[in-house]
Amino acid sequence: MLLVKEAEDIILNLVQVLTEHDSETVTLENAQGRTIAKPIVGKLDFPHWDNSAMDGYAVRYEDVKTCDEKNPVHLDVITEIAAGDRPEVDIKPGQAARIFTGAMLPQGTDTIVIQENTQREADKVTILAAPEPQEFVRHKGAFYQAGTPILEAGIKIGAAEIAVLATAQCTKLSVYRRPRVAILSTGDELVTPEQTLQPGQIVDSNQYALASFVASNGGIPIKLGIVPDQPEALKSAIAQAIESADIVLSTGGVSVGDYDYVDRILAELGGTLHIRSVAVKPGKPLTVATFDDNNCLYFGIPGNPVSALVSCWRFVQPALKKLSGQNNYQPKFVDAITRHDLKAAGKRETYLWGQLHLVNGKYEFALAGGSHSSGNLINLAQTNGLAIAPIDQRFIGKGNEVKVMLIN
Ligand code: AMP
Ligand code: MG
Repeated sequence: MLLVKEAEDIILNLVQVLTEHDSETVTLENAQGRTIAKPIVGKLDFPHWDNSAMDGYAVRYEDVKTCDEKNPVHLDVITEIAAGDRPEVDIKPGQAARIFTGAMLPQGTDTIVIQENTQREADKVTILAAPEPQEFVRHKGAFYQAGTPILEAGIKIGAAEIAVLATAQCTKLSVYRRPRVAILSTGDELVTPEQTLQPGQIVDSNQYALASFVASNGGIPIKLGIVPDQPEALKSAIAQAIESADIVLSTGGVSVGDYDYVDRILAELGGTLHIRSVAVKPGKPLTVATFDDNNCLYFGIPGNPVSALVSCWRFVQPALKKLSGQNNYQPKFVDAITRHDLKAAGKRETYLWGQLHLVNGKYEFALAGGSHSSGNLINLAQTNGLAIAPIDQRFIGKGNEVKVMLIN
Protein backbone atom coordinates (compact mmCIF):
# COMPACT_ATOMS: atom_id res chain seq x y z
CA MET A 1 0.00 0.00 0.00
CA LEU A 2 1.42 3.37 -1.04
CA LEU A 3 1.14 6.54 1.00
CA VAL A 4 -1.12 9.21 -0.48
CA LYS A 5 1.83 11.49 -1.22
CA GLU A 6 3.73 8.65 -2.92
CA ALA A 7 0.72 7.83 -5.07
CA GLU A 8 0.25 11.49 -5.96
CA ASP A 9 3.90 11.80 -7.05
CA ILE A 10 3.71 8.63 -9.16
CA ILE A 11 0.54 9.84 -10.87
CA LEU A 12 1.84 13.34 -11.59
CA ASN A 13 5.06 11.84 -13.01
CA LEU A 14 3.04 9.59 -15.32
CA VAL A 15 1.04 12.48 -16.78
CA GLN A 16 2.01 13.37 -20.33
CA VAL A 17 1.21 17.04 -20.63
CA LEU A 18 -0.46 18.19 -23.83
CA THR A 19 2.00 19.91 -26.16
CA GLU A 20 1.71 22.85 -28.55
CA HIS A 21 0.68 20.30 -31.20
CA ASP A 22 -2.40 19.69 -29.07
CA SER A 23 -3.51 23.29 -29.34
CA GLU A 24 -6.32 24.92 -31.25
CA THR A 25 -7.39 28.48 -31.96
CA VAL A 26 -10.44 29.89 -30.21
CA THR A 27 -12.10 33.29 -30.28
CA LEU A 28 -12.28 35.46 -27.20
CA GLU A 29 -15.98 34.55 -26.95
CA ASN A 30 -15.08 30.87 -26.57
CA ALA A 31 -11.98 31.20 -24.39
CA GLN A 32 -13.71 30.80 -21.01
CA GLY A 33 -12.31 27.85 -19.04
CA ARG A 34 -9.65 27.03 -21.61
CA THR A 35 -5.89 26.92 -20.95
CA ILE A 36 -3.51 29.22 -22.81
CA ALA A 37 -1.11 27.23 -25.02
CA LYS A 38 1.19 30.02 -26.28
CA PRO A 39 2.16 33.15 -24.34
CA ILE A 40 -0.03 36.10 -25.27
CA VAL A 41 1.95 39.18 -26.31
CA GLY A 42 0.06 42.46 -26.51
CA LYS A 43 0.62 45.11 -29.19
CA LEU A 44 -0.66 48.01 -27.08
CA ASP A 45 0.74 49.63 -23.97
CA PHE A 46 -1.66 49.73 -21.07
CA PRO A 47 -2.81 52.40 -20.39
CA HIS A 48 -2.63 53.40 -24.04
CA TRP A 49 -2.15 57.08 -23.10
CA ASP A 50 -1.39 59.18 -20.04
CA ASN A 51 -4.83 59.62 -18.53
CA SER A 52 -6.54 60.88 -15.43
CA ALA A 53 -7.48 58.53 -12.59
CA MET A 54 -9.92 61.08 -11.10
CA ASP A 55 -12.39 63.83 -11.90
CA GLY A 56 -10.66 67.19 -11.40
CA TYR A 57 -8.19 69.50 -13.14
CA ALA A 58 -5.11 68.70 -15.22
CA VAL A 59 -2.39 71.15 -14.19
CA ARG A 60 1.34 71.85 -14.40
CA TYR A 61 2.80 70.74 -11.07
CA GLU A 62 5.15 73.74 -11.07
CA ASP A 63 2.09 76.05 -10.93
CA VAL A 64 0.53 74.51 -7.83
CA LYS A 65 3.31 72.88 -5.83
CA THR A 66 3.31 75.41 -2.98
CA CYS A 67 -0.38 76.25 -2.63
CA ASP A 68 -2.64 75.58 0.34
CA GLU A 69 -5.91 76.98 1.65
CA LYS A 70 -4.26 80.18 2.87
CA ASN A 71 -2.22 80.67 -0.30
CA PRO A 72 -4.43 79.28 -3.05
CA VAL A 73 -3.46 79.41 -6.72
CA HIS A 74 -5.87 80.65 -9.41
CA LEU A 75 -5.67 79.06 -12.86
CA ASP A 76 -7.55 79.76 -16.12
CA VAL A 77 -9.63 76.80 -17.23
CA ILE A 78 -9.18 76.90 -21.00
CA THR A 79 -10.63 73.56 -22.04
CA GLU A 80 -12.63 70.57 -20.86
CA ILE A 81 -11.65 66.98 -21.63
CA ALA A 82 -14.02 64.08 -21.11
CA ALA A 83 -13.14 60.38 -21.43
CA GLY A 84 -12.86 59.66 -25.14
CA ASP A 85 -11.97 63.27 -26.14
CA ARG A 86 -8.73 64.02 -27.92
CA PRO A 87 -7.16 67.12 -26.25
CA GLU A 88 -6.80 69.94 -28.80
CA VAL A 89 -4.88 72.62 -26.89
CA ASP A 90 -1.65 72.81 -24.93
CA ILE A 91 -1.80 74.00 -21.35
CA LYS A 92 0.56 76.90 -20.64
CA PRO A 93 1.77 78.22 -17.23
CA GLY A 94 -1.18 79.66 -15.30
CA GLN A 95 -3.71 77.45 -17.15
CA ALA A 96 -5.58 74.22 -16.36
CA ALA A 97 -7.95 71.81 -18.11
CA ARG A 98 -11.14 70.50 -16.57
CA ILE A 99 -10.72 66.70 -16.83
CA PHE A 100 -12.71 63.56 -16.05
CA THR A 101 -11.71 60.00 -15.10
CA GLY A 102 -10.12 58.12 -17.97
CA ALA A 103 -9.61 61.22 -20.14
CA MET A 104 -6.27 61.85 -21.91
CA LEU A 105 -3.96 64.40 -20.31
CA PRO A 106 -3.43 67.47 -22.51
CA GLN A 107 0.09 68.53 -23.53
CA GLY A 108 1.81 70.63 -20.90
CA THR A 109 0.13 69.01 -17.88
CA ASP A 110 1.64 66.39 -15.61
CA THR A 111 -0.58 66.27 -12.51
CA ILE A 112 -4.26 65.98 -11.60
CA VAL A 113 -5.83 68.00 -8.78
CA ILE A 114 -8.98 66.25 -7.59
CA GLN A 115 -12.07 68.43 -7.77
CA GLU A 116 -12.58 68.13 -4.00
CA ASN A 117 -9.47 70.33 -3.55
CA THR A 118 -10.67 73.07 -5.87
CA GLN A 119 -13.24 75.85 -6.17
CA ARG A 120 -14.63 76.71 -9.57
CA GLU A 121 -15.95 80.07 -10.66
CA ALA A 122 -16.74 80.63 -14.34
CA ASP A 123 -13.45 80.18 -16.26
CA LYS A 124 -11.26 80.20 -13.16
CA VAL A 125 -10.37 77.42 -10.76
CA THR A 126 -8.87 77.93 -7.33
CA ILE A 127 -6.49 75.21 -6.16
CA LEU A 128 -6.73 74.83 -2.39
CA ALA A 129 -4.16 72.10 -1.75
CA ALA A 130 -0.87 71.15 -3.39
CA PRO A 131 -0.97 67.71 -5.03
CA GLU A 132 1.96 65.28 -5.15
CA PRO A 133 3.96 65.51 -8.38
CA GLN A 134 2.18 63.46 -11.09
CA GLU A 135 -0.61 62.60 -8.69
CA PHE A 136 -3.61 60.72 -10.15
CA VAL A 137 -1.96 60.33 -13.54
CA ARG A 138 -2.04 56.86 -15.02
CA HIS A 139 1.02 56.88 -17.26
CA LYS A 140 1.14 55.27 -20.68
CA GLY A 141 2.56 51.77 -20.27
CA ALA A 142 2.61 51.97 -16.46
CA PHE A 143 0.61 48.72 -16.07
CA TYR A 144 1.91 46.87 -19.12
CA GLN A 145 4.35 47.50 -21.94
CA ALA A 146 3.65 46.16 -25.43
CA GLY A 147 5.86 43.34 -26.64
CA THR A 148 6.23 41.43 -23.36
CA PRO A 149 4.01 38.44 -22.44
CA ILE A 150 0.76 39.70 -20.94
CA LEU A 151 -0.44 36.15 -20.10
CA GLU A 152 1.77 33.07 -19.87
CA ALA A 153 1.05 29.64 -21.31
CA GLY A 154 -0.60 27.33 -18.77
CA ILE A 155 -3.00 29.90 -17.38
CA LYS A 156 -6.63 28.79 -17.16
CA ILE A 157 -8.89 31.52 -18.48
CA GLY A 158 -11.55 33.03 -16.25
CA ALA A 159 -13.21 36.44 -16.02
CA ALA A 160 -10.02 38.32 -15.11
CA GLU A 161 -8.03 36.78 -17.97
CA ILE A 162 -10.90 37.49 -20.39
CA ALA A 163 -10.67 41.15 -19.35
CA VAL A 164 -6.92 41.19 -20.02
CA LEU A 165 -7.35 39.50 -23.41
CA ALA A 166 -10.11 41.88 -24.41
CA THR A 167 -8.16 44.98 -23.46
CA ALA A 168 -5.13 43.67 -25.36
CA GLN A 169 -7.51 43.26 -28.35
CA CYS A 170 -6.55 39.60 -28.49
CA THR A 171 -9.65 38.27 -30.23
CA LYS A 172 -8.17 34.90 -31.23
CA LEU A 173 -5.79 32.81 -29.19
CA SER A 174 -4.15 29.44 -28.98
CA VAL A 175 -5.44 27.11 -26.25
CA TYR A 176 -4.81 23.46 -25.47
CA ARG A 177 -7.46 21.10 -26.71
CA ARG A 178 -9.72 19.74 -23.99
CA PRO A 179 -8.54 16.33 -22.74
CA ARG A 180 -10.86 13.43 -23.56
CA VAL A 181 -11.84 11.42 -20.52
CA ALA A 182 -13.64 8.12 -20.98
CA ILE A 183 -15.89 7.04 -18.12
CA LEU A 184 -17.27 3.58 -17.57
CA SER A 185 -19.10 1.99 -14.69
CA THR A 186 -18.59 -1.69 -13.97
CA GLY A 187 -21.05 -3.85 -12.10
CA ASP A 188 -23.87 -6.31 -12.77
CA GLU A 189 -25.98 -4.50 -10.19
CA LEU A 190 -26.02 -1.14 -11.97
CA VAL A 191 -28.93 0.48 -13.81
CA THR A 192 -29.36 3.95 -15.29
CA PRO A 193 -31.34 6.65 -13.45
CA GLU A 194 -34.16 6.15 -15.99
CA GLN A 195 -34.62 2.43 -15.24
CA THR A 196 -36.92 1.05 -12.56
CA LEU A 197 -34.91 -0.57 -9.79
CA GLN A 198 -35.33 -4.31 -9.32
CA PRO A 199 -34.41 -5.86 -5.96
CA GLY A 200 -30.63 -5.79 -5.50
CA GLN A 201 -30.00 -3.18 -8.15
CA ILE A 202 -28.22 0.14 -7.67
CA VAL A 203 -28.39 3.32 -9.72
CA ASP A 204 -25.15 4.11 -11.52
CA SER A 205 -24.53 7.52 -9.99
CA ASN A 206 -20.79 7.40 -10.63
CA GLN A 207 -21.17 7.80 -14.39
CA TYR A 208 -22.95 11.11 -13.87
CA ALA A 209 -20.83 12.31 -10.99
CA LEU A 210 -17.60 11.65 -12.85
CA ALA A 211 -18.88 13.24 -16.06
CA SER A 212 -19.73 16.37 -14.07
CA PHE A 213 -16.34 16.29 -12.37
CA VAL A 214 -14.56 15.99 -15.72
CA ALA A 215 -16.57 18.75 -17.39
CA SER A 216 -16.06 21.12 -14.48
CA ASN A 217 -12.31 20.53 -14.77
CA GLY A 218 -12.27 21.42 -18.45
CA GLY A 219 -12.23 17.87 -19.90
CA ILE A 220 -14.59 16.28 -22.41
CA PRO A 221 -16.42 13.42 -20.68
CA ILE A 222 -17.05 10.43 -22.92
CA LYS A 223 -19.68 8.36 -21.17
CA LEU A 224 -19.26 4.73 -22.15
CA GLY A 225 -22.06 3.50 -19.90
CA ILE A 226 -22.44 0.46 -17.72
CA VAL A 227 -20.37 -2.66 -18.32
CA PRO A 228 -21.34 -5.92 -16.61
CA ASP A 229 -18.89 -7.94 -14.50
CA GLN A 230 -18.10 -10.27 -17.40
CA PRO A 231 -14.42 -10.46 -18.33
CA GLU A 232 -14.94 -10.47 -22.11
CA ALA A 233 -17.40 -7.57 -22.13
CA LEU A 234 -15.20 -5.66 -19.71
CA LYS A 235 -12.07 -6.31 -21.75
CA SER A 236 -13.55 -4.97 -24.96
CA ALA A 237 -15.07 -1.93 -23.21
CA ILE A 238 -11.77 -1.10 -21.53
CA ALA A 239 -9.84 -1.59 -24.79
CA GLN A 240 -12.23 0.80 -26.53
CA ALA A 241 -11.89 3.33 -23.71
CA ILE A 242 -8.10 3.25 -23.84
CA GLU A 243 -8.18 3.84 -27.61
CA SER A 244 -10.50 6.79 -27.39
CA ALA A 245 -9.24 8.89 -24.50
CA ASP A 246 -6.36 10.65 -22.80
CA ILE A 247 -7.60 9.47 -19.42
CA VAL A 248 -9.92 6.58 -18.56
CA LEU A 249 -11.90 6.52 -15.34
CA SER A 250 -13.58 3.23 -14.56
CA THR A 251 -15.40 2.69 -11.31
CA GLY A 252 -15.87 -0.58 -9.50
CA GLY A 253 -14.18 -3.92 -9.90
CA VAL A 254 -10.80 -3.02 -8.38
CA SER A 255 -11.26 -4.58 -4.92
CA VAL A 256 -10.50 -8.14 -3.97
CA GLY A 257 -13.98 -9.53 -4.64
CA ASP A 258 -14.65 -12.49 -6.94
CA TYR A 259 -16.03 -10.18 -9.62
CA ASP A 260 -13.26 -7.60 -9.53
CA TYR A 261 -11.59 -8.16 -12.90
CA VAL A 262 -10.24 -4.75 -13.83
CA ASP A 263 -6.58 -5.15 -12.79
CA ARG A 264 -6.27 -8.53 -14.52
CA ILE A 265 -7.77 -7.16 -17.72
CA LEU A 266 -5.47 -4.14 -17.72
CA ALA A 267 -2.48 -6.49 -17.49
CA GLU A 268 -3.89 -8.67 -20.31
CA LEU A 269 -4.23 -5.55 -22.47
CA GLY A 270 -0.52 -4.82 -22.02
CA GLY A 271 -0.91 -2.24 -19.27
CA THR A 272 1.73 -1.46 -16.68
CA LEU A 273 0.16 -1.22 -13.24
CA HIS A 274 1.87 1.51 -11.22
CA ILE A 275 -0.51 1.64 -8.29
CA ARG A 276 -2.90 -0.96 -6.90
CA SER A 277 -3.79 0.40 -3.51
CA VAL A 278 -3.23 3.49 -1.43
CA ALA A 279 -3.34 3.97 2.34
CA VAL A 280 -6.32 6.28 2.13
CA LYS A 281 -9.88 6.18 3.42
CA PRO A 282 -12.12 6.23 1.50
CA GLY A 283 -10.58 4.95 -1.72
CA LYS A 284 -8.02 2.29 -0.80
CA PRO A 285 -8.26 0.12 -3.93
CA LEU A 286 -6.97 2.54 -6.55
CA THR A 287 -5.46 1.21 -9.74
CA VAL A 288 -3.31 3.39 -11.99
CA ALA A 289 -2.01 2.00 -15.26
CA THR A 290 -0.38 3.16 -18.48
CA PHE A 291 -0.04 1.53 -21.89
CA ASP A 292 3.05 1.48 -24.09
CA ASP A 293 1.29 1.92 -27.43
CA ASN A 294 -0.59 5.10 -26.48
CA ASN A 295 -0.54 7.94 -23.98
CA CYS A 296 -3.60 6.88 -22.04
CA LEU A 297 -3.56 7.17 -18.25
CA TYR A 298 -5.96 4.69 -16.66
CA PHE A 299 -7.57 5.13 -13.25
CA GLY A 300 -9.43 2.13 -11.83
CA ILE A 301 -11.45 3.74 -9.07
CA PRO A 302 -13.44 1.98 -6.33
CA GLY A 303 -17.18 1.78 -6.95
CA ASN A 304 -18.51 3.24 -3.72
CA PRO A 305 -19.83 6.65 -4.72
CA VAL A 306 -18.00 8.59 -2.02
CA SER A 307 -14.76 6.70 -2.63
CA ALA A 308 -15.14 7.41 -6.33
CA LEU A 309 -15.48 11.18 -5.93
CA VAL A 310 -12.88 11.51 -3.19
CA SER A 311 -10.43 9.55 -5.37
CA CYS A 312 -11.20 11.90 -8.27
CA TRP A 313 -10.72 15.03 -6.16
CA ARG A 314 -7.52 13.78 -4.54
CA PHE A 315 -5.78 11.97 -7.40
CA VAL A 316 -7.47 12.57 -10.76
CA GLN A 317 -8.05 16.32 -10.49
CA PRO A 318 -4.34 17.32 -10.31
CA ALA A 319 -3.52 14.84 -13.09
CA LEU A 320 -6.29 16.14 -15.34
CA LYS A 321 -5.24 19.74 -14.76
CA LYS A 322 -1.58 18.96 -15.40
CA LEU A 323 -2.41 17.02 -18.57
CA SER A 324 -4.55 19.97 -19.74
CA GLY A 325 -1.43 22.16 -19.73
CA GLN A 326 -2.41 24.11 -16.62
CA ASN A 327 0.58 25.31 -14.61
CA ASN A 328 -1.46 25.56 -11.43
CA TYR A 329 -2.41 21.92 -10.95
CA GLN A 330 -1.33 21.08 -7.40
CA PRO A 331 -4.10 20.39 -4.88
CA LYS A 332 -4.77 23.22 -2.41
CA PHE A 333 -4.78 22.79 1.37
CA VAL A 334 -5.63 25.19 4.15
CA ASP A 335 -5.45 24.94 7.94
CA ALA A 336 -8.83 25.14 9.62
CA ILE A 337 -10.33 24.77 13.08
CA THR A 338 -12.73 21.85 13.22
CA ARG A 339 -16.19 22.57 14.62
CA HIS A 340 -16.76 18.87 15.27
CA ASP A 341 -14.82 15.91 16.63
CA LEU A 342 -13.21 14.02 13.75
CA LYS A 343 -12.75 10.24 13.96
CA ALA A 344 -10.29 8.55 11.63
CA ALA A 345 -9.15 5.12 10.50
CA GLY A 346 -5.68 5.31 12.04
CA LYS A 347 -3.90 3.02 9.59
CA ARG A 348 -4.88 5.08 6.56
CA GLU A 349 -4.90 8.81 5.81
CA THR A 350 -8.54 9.66 6.30
CA TYR A 351 -10.57 12.19 4.31
CA LEU A 352 -13.74 13.47 5.97
CA TRP A 353 -16.14 15.50 3.92
CA GLY A 354 -17.83 18.70 4.95
CA GLN A 355 -17.88 22.42 4.55
CA LEU A 356 -15.20 24.98 4.93
CA HIS A 357 -16.31 28.39 6.22
CA LEU A 358 -14.27 31.57 6.44
CA VAL A 359 -15.05 33.26 9.77
CA ASN A 360 -13.25 36.52 10.64
CA GLY A 361 -10.37 35.62 8.37
CA LYS A 362 -9.97 32.07 9.76
CA TYR A 363 -11.14 28.81 8.19
CA GLU A 364 -13.50 26.58 10.11
CA PHE A 365 -14.42 23.05 9.06
CA ALA A 366 -17.92 21.69 9.65
CA LEU A 367 -18.18 17.93 9.27
CA ALA A 368 -21.10 16.79 7.11
CA GLY A 369 -23.87 15.40 9.31
CA GLY A 370 -24.94 11.78 9.04
CA SER A 371 -22.95 8.67 8.32
CA HIS A 372 -19.40 8.91 6.99
CA SER A 373 -19.72 5.60 5.23
CA SER A 374 -18.14 5.51 1.78
CA GLY A 375 -21.46 4.29 0.46
CA ASN A 376 -23.36 7.32 1.76
CA LEU A 377 -23.30 9.81 -1.05
CA ILE A 378 -26.30 11.72 0.28
CA ASN A 379 -24.36 13.84 2.79
CA LEU A 380 -21.66 14.54 0.22
CA ALA A 381 -23.86 17.29 -1.25
CA GLN A 382 -22.45 20.80 -0.69
CA THR A 383 -19.00 19.46 0.20
CA ASN A 384 -16.30 22.03 -0.51
CA GLY A 385 -13.49 20.64 1.61
CA LEU A 386 -12.05 17.36 2.85
CA ALA A 387 -10.54 17.36 6.34
CA ILE A 388 -7.46 15.16 6.48
CA ALA A 389 -6.53 13.05 9.49
CA PRO A 390 -2.97 11.77 9.06
CA ILE A 391 -2.05 8.12 9.55
CA ASP A 392 -1.99 7.13 13.24
CA GLN A 393 -4.16 10.07 14.26
CA ARG A 394 -7.47 8.47 15.19
CA PHE A 395 -9.08 11.54 16.66
CA ILE A 396 -9.01 15.31 16.19
CA GLY A 397 -11.10 17.05 18.83
CA LYS A 398 -13.45 19.93 18.20
CA GLY A 399 -11.60 23.28 18.30
CA ASN A 400 -8.31 21.83 17.08
CA GLU A 401 -6.51 22.56 13.85
CA VAL A 402 -6.95 20.25 10.88
CA LYS A 403 -5.60 20.34 7.33
CA VAL A 404 -8.39 20.65 4.76
CA MET A 405 -8.12 20.02 1.03
CA LEU A 406 -10.15 22.43 -1.07
CA ILE A 407 -12.21 20.88 -3.79
CA ASN A 408 -12.97 22.90 -6.91
P1 AMP B 1 -17.05 -2.33 -6.19
O1 AMP B 1 -15.93 -1.33 -6.09
O2 AMP B 1 -17.30 -2.76 -7.58
O3 AMP B 1 -16.80 -3.47 -5.26
O4 AMP B 1 -18.34 -1.59 -5.68
C1 AMP B 1 -18.43 -1.16 -4.35
C2 AMP B 1 -19.81 -0.65 -4.04
O5 AMP B 1 -20.07 0.51 -4.82
C3 AMP B 1 -20.95 -1.60 -4.31
O6 AMP B 1 -21.89 -1.46 -3.28
C4 AMP B 1 -21.51 -1.10 -5.58
O7 AMP B 1 -22.86 -1.41 -5.73
C5 AMP B 1 -21.29 0.39 -5.52
N1 AMP B 1 -21.13 0.91 -6.87
C6 AMP B 1 -20.30 0.38 -7.79
N2 AMP B 1 -20.38 1.07 -8.93
C7 AMP B 1 -21.25 2.07 -8.72
C8 AMP B 1 -21.76 3.11 -9.55
N3 AMP B 1 -21.35 3.24 -10.81
N4 AMP B 1 -22.65 3.97 -9.02
C9 AMP B 1 -23.06 3.82 -7.75
N5 AMP B 1 -22.62 2.85 -6.93
C10 AMP B 1 -21.74 1.96 -7.39
MG1 MG C 1 -18.46 -4.16 -8.50
